[in-house]
Amino acid sequence: MYYKSTRDSSLQVTSATAIAQGISADGGLFIPSEIPKISMEELQSLMEMNYQERANVVFGKFLTDFTPEEIAYCTSHAYSVKNFETEQIAELTKAFDEANILELWHGPTCAFKDMALQILPYLLTTSLKKNGEDKKVVILVATSGDTGKAALEGFKDVPDTEIMVFYPEQGVSTMQKRQMATQEGGNVTVCALKGNFDDCQNGVKKIFTDKNVKEKLAAAGKMFSSANSINWGRLAPQIVYYVSAYVEMAKRGEITFGDVINVVVPTGNFGNILAAYYAKNMGVPIGKLICASNINKVLTDFIETGTYDRNREFYATCSPSMDILISSNLERLLYLLTDGDDKQIQEWFGKLSTEGKYTVTEEVKAKLQKDFVGGFCDDAETKKTIHDFQEKYHYTCDTHTAVAVKVYLDYLEKTNDKTKTLIASTASPYKFSASVLEAIEGKRSEADEYEQVAHLAEVSGLPVPQSLADLKNKPVRFSEVIEKEAMEDYVLNKLGITE
Ligand SMILES: *Cc1c(COP(=O)(O)O)cnc(C)c1O
Repeated sequence: MYYKSTRDSSLQVTSATAIAQGISADGGLFIPSEIPKISMEELQSLMEMNYQERANVVFGKFLTDFTPEEIAYCTSHAYSVKNFETEQIAELTKAFDEANILELWHGPTCAFKDMALQILPYLLTTSLKKNGEDKKVVILVATSGDTGKAALEGFKDVPDTEIMVFYPEQGVSTMQKRQMATQEGGNVTVCALKGNFDDCQNGVKKIFTDKNVKEKLAAAGKMFSSANSINWGRLAPQIVYYVSAYVEMAKRGEITFGDVINVVVPTGNFGNILAAYYAKNMGVPIGKLICASNINKVLTDFIETGTYDRNREFYATCSPSMDILISSNLERLLYLLTDGDDKQIQEWFGKLSTEGKYTVTEEVKAKLQKDFVGGFCDDAETKKTIHDFQEKYHYTCDTHTAVAVKVYLDYLEKTNDKTKTLIASTASPYKFSASVLEAIEGKRSEADEYEQVAHLAEVSGLPVPQSLADLKNKPVRFSEVIEKEAMEDYVLNKLGITE
């Protein structure tokens, strides 16, 4: 298997090169040349395996240029109880009769990004070694809150790497900001941007693909790579937990092995749900993929109309990790749905950057609607869902998971589709304590974030994750805020490249 670019189908690189580069030089995203299959027998054989072993099987199918030893090295370091608070790694819990919740947030930063970012540094450094690359790698990250911290934790003090994270000054929760501002490690930089997440993402993409910057960096013995979900090394680990969750549901008798399940994903950059789509196309019995958005519902509209239109007001919501108007990974889905039509992708994404919108063909729209269902809810509905879920099922959802739950309940009401459903839960409620408490108690508290965490512990009965409890005593190391136009200079300066 090799990897192509969504904007150049003739490109052929190994997975190691795709992971090392992060994004293709033509601005497209790396994508495997085919979707490997998993047979029902092989899927069933995963039942007796632990998470690491299941990961080895899935990675083995996508990273065909890695040896089994290299893959096992990566998975054993990433998916251990040293890094995750549960042996299951991804914890399957029961919500109510028709639904299971897959808690993806038991890693060091309490958000689902850890599932990929705990392993990415191993995949990346292994890839560089395989390619005989001797440059130091600089990881540039745009974050809506969770990726940044998860990437910082993954890469801190990893030899021969440096990491720089940009987040929207007003776009992250107090706890997220504190997590990043107190980041430890000798190779880390964190900076706030006057702008929103899309500004951060566009800035990073621009620096990344700028030939001039690349040359300067190379002269200094460095190269960029990406830890954003455009890197295939982020996508592949996410496929693992959908494969594993299916097997786990069968093992626990939630379904009979072979039954079809639906999957609901609270969506932003479209990485998480795309991984579920890959699992489905590998052969995991998955029916509908339900794409849940907050009021920034560009994806809901797209799935309904076939027109992707980012020309709209941007809202800061209580589910900030989903406040995104350009969902980068959609490009990979559209590449698959057009059977690899790179010219078509160039046209649509060219239009997206010049006009802010594009419309797919009727054929592609029909394919999209066959697998995907879109839905959204606003902040008031999100909070009501947290409140009602707590009361009815004694289960505490964070604000992102609650969007998924609400969109699922709406879907259930509309379709009466009783297919067993897996809801992806993407963050610990403690990461968004203020909003979660406000939802449960009906009023906003003025207490500081640690009092709120303590209070939420009383209300929810959930143990406070150690990593969040520890933040309280850590000093703030990063407090810079810059204009979005200043990003490139800032990056070069920090890297000591002044000319
Ligand atoms: C990143 C994130 C999302 C969105 O995931 P995508 O892969 O970008 O669609 C949802 N919820 C939380 C808590 C996140 O951190």
